Amino acid sequence: LFVVFEGGEGAGKSTQLAALAERLRGGGREVVVTREPGATGVGERIRSLVLGTAADDAPSPRAEALLYAADRAHHVATVVRPALVRGAVVISDRYVDSSLAYQGAGRTLPVDEVSWLSSWATGGLKPDLVVLLDVDPHTGLGRVAARSEDADRLEAESVAFHERVRYAFLDLAAGDPKRYLVLDASRPVGEIADAVARRVGEFLVD
Ligand code: C5P
Repeated sequence: LFVVFEGGEGAGKSTQLAALAERLRGGGREVVVTREPGATGVGERIRSLVLGTAADDAPSPRAEALLYAADRAHHVATVVRPALVRGAVVISDRYVDSSLAYQGAGRTLPVDEVSWLSSWATGGLKPDLVVLLDVDPHTGLGRVAARSEDADRLEAESVAFHERVRYAFLDLAAGDPKRYLVLDASRPVGEIADAVARRVGEFLVD
């Protein structure tokens, strides 16, 4: 089972990911928690290229899209597919939809091209379920303002950028409702965790 968490800045993905992993492990499942970008050694280096570079030295939009795709190709080949083959539940913090939303809608690259690039990178691997934690950018950015490591980078991107990202995620969900669980990220943490666990549980009835 391959579950992906998506959402804008400050949506609370990490908290929810950890909560789901704990519940599944409590039920005796093997769970692999992973993320994009940066789940592997190669990925860590790519992450520092795309996220750790000063704004005036940041990769151009197409270069950025290729770097995310390279991270994803390596991630799928070395972490996600092997775990799925073993029968583990894989929970990833971001996947293809982040590229469609950030590199496509956000950086205004053609979304169909970014989609093609991702499907080439992954060999067409799609998640069984995408949990979209929907957050209004004002609220989300406010939540992460406290994390100083992200502050400069996020300040360089306008609220309009984050709004495009948000609506791109919502459009993707609306286009394939069976594969998505869209939750309002401003709801209490425990309520969100329960809703996620219920939906994931539907996949795990033996
Ligand atoms: O989820 P996390 O906070 O680790 O994401 C780090 C950043 O990477 C996000 O702020 C997002 O702007 C960026 N990102 C991106 N395109 C992706 C994945 C992440 O721009 N495909």
